[in-house]
Amino acid sequence: MKLSYTILIFVLGMIFSFTGIAQSNEIKIKFIGNCGLHMTDGELNIYSDFPYKSGAFGYMKFDDSEIDSIRENSIFIFTHKHADHYSGKNMRKTLRSKGGKKYGPWNIKKLKQFAESTHDFEIETFKTKHRFSFNHYSYLITWHGKKIFLSGDTESAETIGEIKNMDMAFLPSWIYIDAKEKGIKIDAKKIGLYHLYPNEKITGDIPEKITILQNQKTIIPILY
Ligand SMILES: [Zn+2]
Repeated sequence: MKLSYTILIFVLGMIFSFTGIAQSNEIKIKFIGNCGLHMTDGELNIYSDFPYKSGAFGYMKFDDSEIDSIRENSIFIFTHKHADHYSGKNMRKTLRSKGGKKYGPWNIKKLKQFAESTHDFEIETFKTKHRFSFNHYSYLITWHGKKIFLSGDTESAETIGEIKNMDMAFLPSWIYIDAKEKGIKIDAKKIGLYHLYPNEKITGDIPEKITILQNQKTIIPILY
């Protein structure tokens, strides 16, 4: 009698732990290169500032496999159209072979419509400044209640300084430095510093909440 009771508890325990595994409850973010990210909750696939032109302006190259492994019917969100963030050729090839939708400064309204029609997904858009580009946007995504900020190439830290309670903020190192110099607080639990040159070194005391995105294919999980 006692034995079967123990077995029952053991079996129940297994069932519970299996359901625990089945629900991933995580947004998995992969750093591809430059400002290029792949974010997925297992259902929706979002790429930001990818595909770009590999190696453009001396920035990071990426393996062909990154293009080949793009998921079908993904959403592509761009901050602007400079070649280190966007490639018309790679994008056309991807949309032709895998479907999907692309959004950026040229169709912000459509991007907002997409967000409105998508469960548990919101986007706030910020027109931000970037030299040599008239059209640059930064984005704040709220996905499964988690706030993820995508800075792109914007010049100054004022915009990010106004956003409260971010779970993850992706920004280039110059925004981080600009914020420090101006005494602007970046209210984020985690920060990913992206858009480094391939051999750029960041030295000094790096706070624990900062991930230096030097290694391509780095995975950042955000649990929800
Ligand atoms: Zn750039």
